[in-house]
Order: sequence, then structure tokens, then C-alpha cells
Amino acid sequence: MPSRSDLRTLAQRHLGPHFTRADAWHNPGLPIFVRGDGCYLYDDEGRRYLDGLAGLFCVNMGHGRSDIVAAASKQMETLAYSTNWGAAHPPSIEAAALIAELAPGDLGVTFFVSSGSEAVESAIKFARQYHRSQGQPERTKFISREMAYHGTTMGALSLTGLPKLRDPFKPLLAGVRHVANTLGCTGAQGGDPRELPCLQAIEQAILEEGPETIAAVFAEPVQNGRGALVPPDGYWPALREMCDRYGILLVADEVICSFGRLGHWFGSAHFGVVPDLITFAKGSTSGYAPLGGMIVRESRMEALLSSPQGGTFTHGSTWGGHPVSTAVALANITAMRDEGVLDNVNALGPVLRAGLESLAGRYGVVKEVRGMGYFYAVEFMADRESGTELTEEQSLRILRQVLPAAFRESGVILRSDDRGATMLLISPPLVADQAVLDELLAGVEHMLSSVQQSIS
Ligand code: PLP
Repeated sequence: MPSRSDLRTLAQRHLGPHFTRADAWHNPGLPIFVRGDGCYLYDDEGRRYLDGLAGLFCVNMGHGRSDIVAAASKQMETLAYSTNWGAAHPPSIEAAALIAELAPGDLGVTFFVSSGSEAVESAIKFARQYHRSQGQPERTKFISREMAYHGTTMGALSLTGLPKLRDPFKPLLAGVRHVANTLGCTGAQGGDPRELPCLQAIEQAILEEGPETIAAVFAEPVQNGRGALVPPDGYWPALREMCDRYGILLVADEVICSFGRLGHWFGSAHFGVVPDLITFAKGSTSGYAPLGGMIVRESRMEALLSSPQGGTFTHGSTWGGHPVSTAVALANITAMRDEGVLDNVNALGPVLRAGLESLAGRYGVVKEVRGMGYFYAVEFMADRESGTELTEEQSLRILRQVLPAAFRESGVILRSDDRGATMLLISPPLVADQAVLDELLAGVEHMLSSVQQSIS
């Protein structure tokens, strides 16, 4: 194995970075992680870090679980590869059946892929082919929300509402409308949710485009882009009702919000709706193997497959439902269930939130804390009391220097985020106990204090 310094040099020369600025990649301090254990990561110098983002919102059961490793190893020995194309194999069948048990309502058919982007791509294609099979081929358009991230493949990117990610790749899929997200969207106390401005924006887009041309609305239960946007009361049931009224499919993109992140198997269940499709990925395997998927209501899948124009969902891939990935999902979800991990999130999520709010009260650079379960965003401003926002220069310094240094100093890794505001994203493994949360909050305090110092 190359030496430590060689590894960094080899990475900088030969490894293609994802979403990383060239100067950050070529920094001599480029982190190289070599091992994980529970809620912790270890770098090439043996230094321990708390993984406060659970990898990328995905290592829900924590690192280094020998039971999940054993499931993968056993599956590789028994049957490393087989398809879900004209045949089936036990791990994908059992994982799909388990997901059907846990998913809300009659969401009972899982179509496996290998990532969140592919899951969203599959839902886009399902929506179009579904409507075509039902004699409505003109339903080809989609609605999603501003600043939402739905992935990087061209269809999923078309739904993504982040201009910086979209602009280099235009033209994207035609017929996608981005509407207001739920940031700051409130109605009168106890008022009719249909009067919420963020829902009226969706209805207005539907009416302007022509309801008979819309295939689906895509939304995350709690939107990650723009920082853990929790919808106002009644939003999801009213959105469900609106989609039903206009014959539009409702897709909950739960790539982050499923498998316990919000304290539920699926975020949609928390908000009291049964969408037509749910897309998932990340937490389904806790990152031990790549997997994503789309869960479809049985009635919708049946309607496509039994229609004279349908018969086949004309989509698939070599790795979709891979035996090792689905065996890992089965072991991971079973452990999550048997170990009561959702109960841990429901018990300690409010404690984490209270800790973040108490810190926010002590640091005037915090504009707002948002989120639920084990999923939070801290948004910064220059000074809460005077209502002064950060200058661009302050924001860049915080994102590029202050927070990365504070992560190293505190030994707590979180994500700094510039999508529409200057933010800190927090999403620990779901197995994090009180002691881990205390360490996490101590790290956050160091970060807030560093940000405060950097602008005073
Ligand atoms: N959808 C949502 C809501 C996501 O958060 C992500 C990734 O973060 C994706 C889709 C894309 O998933 P992937 O990175 O696995 O392609």
C-alpha cells in the first residue's frame, strides 16, 4: 500500500473528485479516511472524528457493523450476481417484501436501482409511462421545488432546483416547473392549509401549465436543499388532495427522509400521506453497499402492467436489485427494526434540537435552526439582533476557511452548505446516543464560536 503522503498525491492526481473545488482537492490537508467504527471515522494519521453527517446522510446504523458485513460476505459466496430482469433472487425478493411491510398504505412494489439519482430517474420514467398506459400521453411535465436537490442524472437534475448545479448542463428536460419551497411559508393559525402561499404556488403552476399536461409533483418530506425545510402543518395532506384533484402522481423523494432519518420508516408517514411513489437510497443500506429504489403503489403498478399499451415498465439496469446490495439492505433494515433505532431517534431527536436551539440563543450569528428527527440545519447571519445578513466575503470565509478549520479542531465533521444561505448541516448516525450527541453539540458550539469570531 502506498505511504500516507503518496496516497494524497495519488488522489490529487488520479482520482476524480465529486462536487469539490480544485483548490480544496489540492490542499495538503485533503482528508483521507481509512476506517470507521460506530459514529466515528479515523483518518490516515489515526485521528478520530465524529461523523456528524453520517457519511452523506446515509450511515444510519453507524460504521463497522459485522452483522451487515457478514450478510454481504455470505451473499457474495452464495450468489454474487443475478438479475431482476426476467428472473428474481431471494435477497431482492425479501428486501422488497420487508419494504412493503414498512411503507405507508399500499406502497407495495419496489423497483431497485443503485443510487438516489437513478431512483428519481426511474420515478420520472414511471410517471410518464404510467400516464401513457392510461391513455393520457400528454401528461409529460413535472413540478418540483426551488433549491431542492433531486440528483445529478439529466432527468433528476432537471427536477433539481439549484441553479448552480443546473446551469452548466442546460438544456435540461423540457416541461419542468420549479415552485416555491416551504421556507418561511406559514398560514393563519388553524387556517385552511390550502391557503398556504407555498401550496397556492403549486396550484398556480398546475393551472398555468394545464393540469392535463402534468405527470407528477416531486417533493421531499423535509427538503434538504436550503436547509432542512420542515413543511407547515397540513401541507402534505393538502398537496395529496391537490394531486388527486388534478390526476397528478405525487412522488415523495425520500432519499434522505426514509429509513429513520426523521424518526419514521418513511417521512411521508409522519406527515400523514400515502404518495403514489417514494424514492429512496442512502439509509436503506446505511452505506454498506450502493442501493436505491422506487416504491410504487400496487394499484399504479398493476394499472401500468395490465393496460393494453403497457405490459412492461420499459426500464432497468444491470445492477438494479444487486444480490449483495439487497442482502445488505435486508440485514440493515432488520437490524434497524430489531434494535429499536427509530425509538432512539424519537427519544433523542428533541434533545438534539433543544441543544441546538440553546446554542443558537447564545450566538447571535445563528439566524435559525430547522429540522426534525436526526436532521437539522443551522442558518447563519452576521447579527441576529440588528438583522444584519452576512456579506458575500464573510460567507465565503465561513464556508471555505472557518468551518473546515473548526471541523478539524473540534474533531466533529459536519457539512457547510451555501445553497441559498450560509448553513451548517447536521445528520448524525441514528444510533448516536446521548454521549455522542453531547460531543456533537460541543463541536457545534466550537463552530458557532469560530463563525462569531470571524465576523467580529
Ligand atoms: N434525492 C435527494 C433528496 C437527495 O438528497 C439525493 C442525494 O443527496 C439524491 C436524490 C441523489 O442521490 P444520489 O447521490 O445517490 O444519486
